[in-house]
Amino acid sequence: MTAFDAVVVGSGPGGATAADVLTEAGWSVCILEKGRNHLLDPDDPGRRGSAFSNDELKFRFRHFLGPDPLLEPRTFRRQSSSSAREHVGEVNNLPSTVGGGGTHADGKLPRFRPEDFDLLGHLGPVEDAAVADWPVDYDELEPYYADAERRIGVAGDAGANPHAAPRSGPYPMPPGPAMYASTLTVAAAERLGYHPYPAPTGANSVPYDGRPACNNCGYCSFYGCPIHAKGDPVSMLQRALGTGRAVLRSEAFVFRVDVAGGRATGVSWIDGDGAVHRETAGHVVLAAGAMETPRLLLLSGFDHPLIGRHVMFHFQTFVMGGFADRLHPHIGRSVTHVHDDHIEPDPAAIATATGADLAWIRGGMVEHCGPAHPIEEAKTYPWGPAHKDLMRQSLARERLWGFCMQGEDLPQPQNRVDLDPAVRDVHGFPVARTTYSPHRHERVASAHHATRLAEILVEAGAQWTVTATSPDPEAAFGPSMPSPVPFSKHVMGTARMGHDPASSVVDPWGRVHRVPNVVVADSSVFVTASGYGPTLTLVALALRAARAMVG
Ligand SMILES: Cc1cc2nc3c(=O)[nH]c(=O)nc-3n(C[C@H](O)[C@H](O)[C@H](O)COP(=O)(O)OP(=O)(O)OC[C@H]3O[C@@H](n4cnc5c(N)ncnc54)[C@H](O)[C@@H]3O)c2cc1C
Ligand code: SF4
Repeated sequence: MTAFDAVVVGSGPGGATAADVLTEAGWSVCILEKGRNHLLDPDDPGRRGSAFSNDELKFRFRHFLGPDPLLEPRTFRRQSSSSAREHVGEVNNLPSTVGGGGTHADGKLPRFRPEDFDLLGHLGPVEDAAVADWPVDYDELEPYYADAERRIGVAGDAGANPHAAPRSGPYPMPPGPAMYASTLTVAAAERLGYHPYPAPTGANSVPYDGRPACNNCGYCSFYGCPIHAKGDPVSMLQRALGTGRAVLRSEAFVFRVDVAGGRATGVSWIDGDGAVHRETAGHVVLAAGAMETPRLLLLSGFDHPLIGRHVMFHFQTFVMGGFADRLHPHIGRSVTHVHDDHIEPDPAAIATATGADLAWIRGGMVEHCGPAHPIEEAKTYPWGPAHKDLMRQSLARERLWGFCMQGEDLPQPQNRVDLDPAVRDVHGFPVARTTYSPHRHERVASAHHATRLAEILVEAGAQWTVTATSPDPEAAFGPSMPSPVPFSKHVMGTARMGHDPASSVVDPWGRVHRVPNVVVADSSVFVTASGYGPTLTLVALALRAARAMVG
């Protein structure tokens, strides 16, 4: 007899979704989350937390949502031949807190397109990359996408993007108001033949699901929402806890999935005081994020050779323009408009690919965005009287606006997450080590599309433009960009899904091939990265995996 029907490791969008579906079906669920809880009262989930604020120091520099990279470091190197590690500290960290990355993402939640699940069939192989097709296609996932949008509460305009995948219905809410600077780049992009549209966003544009409409406070990306207008994943956690069938334990670090006779029996975890506990369950759902899930599998002795391999981040291309006028880029939901035209290879992209001896190149979704809040801005200026002048002129906060393209990052087996042989976390366990270098495809695609993005900025009135990428493999390692460590916060691919146990870690429903009552419900299962944010797709896959669990 087990204590719970399922134990869920991690309370971010993936874990919260699994808990929502499992409790809805009558299962008892224990959610174990290693971070602290600022989101809701586990005993009265209707009471949402009040510790979120528009405080840049607290959220950006003092690790309020965790993890503290001194206590829970990660390590990084560019190649396995480099050395054991080139960098120790923060490596694409997402918040470690109840709600995971969902609490402070600005929540652009687009669906993938049909060809994203069929990249090998659609465009063909690329030398030195492990491009493969997914074991699930868009048509099968569509109802789960629609359900995910309803559960989270996504605001968007179904007819606005001519490149969008077919939908069975409209978005649950209309889009919210545009940021002023977006109106300039949207108009310029349209004049040059592109098709910008309101970003599908997991923030209420109108009151929805018992939560208020966003007030466009401007502290969205990297901040918890003070009024809980963001639905992901608070809405799923509230529903799961509201059934009375879920228990939420925060500051509970799971260090092992316990397995006997080819089946998981539960997990072992450490509480905030260092005491070790064991939770027994009929199923274990792993939703610790695409870097911590492979780490936990490896810590638990799972030995599939592909665990941790094919780690992908989006290759980000930033093209920024300097404008004479104040554009107020820091007011609004961080990003209100995007365009997709750079994803499918057009004749110009095909010519560039051919010239670079590549089979094809693909860009990604382009976010219309501005860079800085006041403290981040202040850190970039020299000290003394010049500092005051520059802050008053406010180039970085008020007059800089542009684009971030989330470029397709091709899977490569040598890019991987494994256990660092020497560096340990505060509990004494080996930390996740990432070995990663971008494929030539990413750099060629980035350079090709950056030129076009700069043209849009000039058309919008920019006086000059500048381009940077993340990662930048040639840059020095440091606490901020540019750095060889990817910054995207979109981590994918470390427990690939597929039909064949020889070429995939989990089956098409997220079940670990060799231990099928362990189910992976995060973006670890992605086969390719696409050029869209991963969260809505991982939530749709978690819905599908949890529905399969309950039959
Ligand atoms: C600033 C920012 C902006 C973003 N914007 C977007 C966007 O616009 N669109 C988009 O699609 N995505 C965006 N993302 C990414 C998005 O947040 C992630 O894709 C999403 O949170 C992943 O969900 P997850 O549940 O898989 O993992 P996570 O959100 O990382 O949650 C995993 C949870 O598991 C916990 N955990 C890990 N290991 C253990 C363990 N051993 N024991 C117990 N608990 C554990 C962690 O503490 C964490 O809370 C953004 C992220 C950031 C940081
Ligand atoms: S911009 Fe809106 S959704 Fe984002 S933190 Fe502010 S109020 Fe919340």
